[in-house]
Amino acid sequence: MSLPLVFHDDYSPQLPPGHRFPMEKFRLLRDHLVERGLTTDQALLRPELCSADILALAHDRHYVERYCCGDMSREELRRLGLPWSPELAQRTVRAVGGSLLAAELALQHGLACHLAGGTHHAHHDHASGFCIFNDLAIIALSLLESGRVGRVLIFDCDVHQGDGTARILEDTADAVTVSLHCEKNFPARKARSDWDIGLPPGMGDAEYLKVVDDTLSYLLPLYQPDLVIYDAGVDVHRDDALGLLNLSNEGLAMRDTAVIDHCLGRDIPVVGVIGGGYDKDRALLARRHAQLHFSADDAWKRYGLR
Ligand SMILES: [Zn+2]
Repeated sequence: MSLPLVFHDDYSPQLPPGHRFPMEKFRLLRDHLVERGLTTDQALLRPELCSADILALAHDRHYVERYCCGDMSREELRRLGLPWSPELAQRTVRAVGGSLLAAELALQHGLACHLAGGTHHAHHDHASGFCIFNDLAIIALSLLESGRVGRVLIFDCDVHQGDGTARILEDTADAVTVSLHCEKNFPARKARSDWDIGLPPGMGDAEYLKVVDDTLSYLLPLYQPDLVIYDAGVDVHRDDALGLLNLSNEGLAMRDTAVIDHCLGRDIPVVGVIGGGYDKDRALLARRHAQLHFSADDAWKRYGLR
């Protein structure tokens, strides 16, 4: 079997013209991976919708119901930054199903990647920063509750702090939250992860990669998780419209490879989700996100996974 990749055609619903969230990036990422021969459309694994019971492991059930039927106030939608539509609601629930499927595949095969996921600003009972349901927290709680894992570690490298994940999992000792983020990026008021590594604006490849290396060298032996959930946000890139760090394309590639190698080198399964990335040039952005899948495919072969 080749590297398991999870995608669904629901992922890129139409937003109003000119909307700042790059919703088409998921479809463009799929197109790019197919064009480059990394996968075929037929080989991509399509997830089911996530059930309301599983969403409710991390979220207030009333909030889940209200979002799914479009019963959101103007203020809530403003904080979310996305309009409501039945297509977007379905996409949201589908994408959580996709992260769950990718996590299950990672447990079976050692490594799997989603072509979406990483909605880490979603909180227990409210949406924030383009995030509605928190797939990272949902995966962690679902796998812990079913007994599939005894401990998970969330390694969140999106440039923004994983504040929703930190708060939802605050009292779950077996879900270790680690956030590497730029200290000057959103959210202004940070939550408390188990491990927060706030980085100064402008940090470049060499310093950043040393932090990644030091952090994983310390935390993976310390916690010995049964699964690492890796948020490979590309908004750390120097050309990102929102992020204040200064990574190059090569730096991104080295980061993704380093994270995957740290896990697989210790026989720890790892699931990759794409996280944030913002650029007016949506094709360029999709190529940036594709780095995760190329790095994972390379590791899949090097480690002889199947
Ligand atoms: Zn981000």
